[in-house]
Amino acid sequence: MSNSQKYTPNTSATSHIPVRQNDFNHQAHDALNDGQLRTNFRRAMDGLIAKRTAQFPDSDDLEARRLHAEAIRQRCLNKLPQLLEQLESNLKANGIKVHWAETAEQACEIIYGISECHQAKSMIKGKSMVSEEIELNHFMAERGIDCLESDMGEYIVQLAEEKPSHIIMPAIHKNAVEVAKLFEDKIPDHSYTEDIDELIQTGRRELRKAFFNADIGLSGVNFMVAETGTLCLVENEGNGRMSTHVPPVHVAVTGIEKVVEFLSDVPPLYHLLTRSATGQPITTYFNMISGPRGENEKDGPKEVHLVLLDNGRSQAYADAQMRKTLQCIRCGACMNHCPVYSRIGGHAYKTVYPGPIGKIISPHMMGLEQTKDLPSASTLCGACGDVCPVKIPIPSLLQRLRIELKRVVSSNDPQQVNMKGAGAGYNAIEARVWKIFSWIYSSRYRYKMLSWMASRFGKLLPNIGPVAVWSKVRSKPVPANKTLHQLMEQRSRQASGQSNGSDK
Ligand code: SF4
Repeated sequence: MSNSQKYTPNTSATSHIPVRQNDFNHQAHDALNDGQLRTNFRRAMDGLIAKRTAQFPDSDDLEARRLHAEAIRQRCLNKLPQLLEQLESNLKANGIKVHWAETAEQACEIIYGISECHQAKSMIKGKSMVSEEIELNHFMAERGIDCLESDMGEYIVQLAEEKPSHIIMPAIHKNAVEVAKLFEDKIPDHSYTEDIDELIQTGRRELRKAFFNADIGLSGVNFMVAETGTLCLVENEGNGRMSTHVPPVHVAVTGIEKVVEFLSDVPPLYHLLTRSATGQPITTYFNMISGPRGENEKDGPKEVHLVLLDNGRSQAYADAQMRKTLQCIRCGACMNHCPVYSRIGGHAYKTVYPGPIGKIISPHMMGLEQTKDLPSASTLCGACGDVCPVKIPIPSLLQRLRIELKRVVSSNDPQQVNMKGAGAGYNAIEARVWKIFSWIYSSRYRYKMLSWMASRFGKLLPNIGPVAVWSKVRSKPVPANKTLHQLMEQRSRQASGQSNGSDK
């Protein structure tokens, strides 16, 4: 296939992407009632937090590195349009074919187009959260192409017909017993064992055959270097290297924000990524892909493609504050430290990216209507922002999304066009209640009158309507009979009375 061949996305096809109805409150409730799930997550998160802490013994050094990483990501994002152009031209010069996809569906159509050109029937996948984002497996399966996950965690969730529950460790919600049962049920000729090494060896044996039989290898990308046209892939299992080198065609898919300007930008980010993600000073593999197999080379794919996906990222990019969301290097540390995520796990969010990063990125991908529960599913404790290696101010971004949800949508407001679904959480009754609240509290006399009434008649309020949701499980606060001012006046009167008495 020549470099000039184009894939025409079939945009007229009916959307295959299942719309995930986000009913966070119910899902979180179910997760909280699952004792095994909570135990699995607590244990895993505690382990990850301890490993990360051990990697950063010097807090001043960590802060300096975070500032440096933040500066790199912000510089690269500020130049994003130019860097993407530079990247495209250098990738093409290296023999890598570049495709642009505005939506998830277009990305799937492009990848399917590549597969069709090669009459592919099977695809082996290295770990790629973007391929989860575009629901690629589902799309390809509907068209007769089998996709097999080769990352061990992804392989486990694929066998279990589930979704990843963590962006770095997709099967972290399962313990060894659950995996042992799964392998026994799903893998022919495998007998039950809880020995982790044996389970991994079984998975490896199954996958090894698939690497050699696959027509296409698919991977994600951690960093794309504009100055050299290089794709960097960080991994531990060697499956990334196998998926990108053994099949005759390699397709990489990633978001447009992953570009960095210089090769020298990679080491500082890599240093923080591996330590923040898994508490490792370095990963087992670091792949740099600079083109297809050369004429005299013995291995490597004959063709390499890169699919660059937007899917809402340019919406985040257009807003100076929300742009910080795109600084993310997908380490998962914010999830590990989040008191909400660590109690309910990833599936309750019903988004590809769960936890704090999911709460700020998903609204751009799915719209605020679909994700309206997420910005408030946070205690705003700030742990996510404190551990983020690129200093994304996640709590402030959550507060901004809350404002966007409640914003009164007016057609004259150009900003509402930018944030898809703005105003989705707007509730006319709630807005009226707050208006009355503000009217009362803006006048000293009205406030005094209300306080007097609340202290006398507050306990007569019935537990009905939306108030009951809150009040049936809580005791109502009992307002004091006298305000603080009245008490202070009374006290100073008593004090002056006493001093007058003692003067006599
Ligand atoms: S938001 Fe920060 S902590 Fe969370 S995944 Fe992204 S880089 Fe890591």
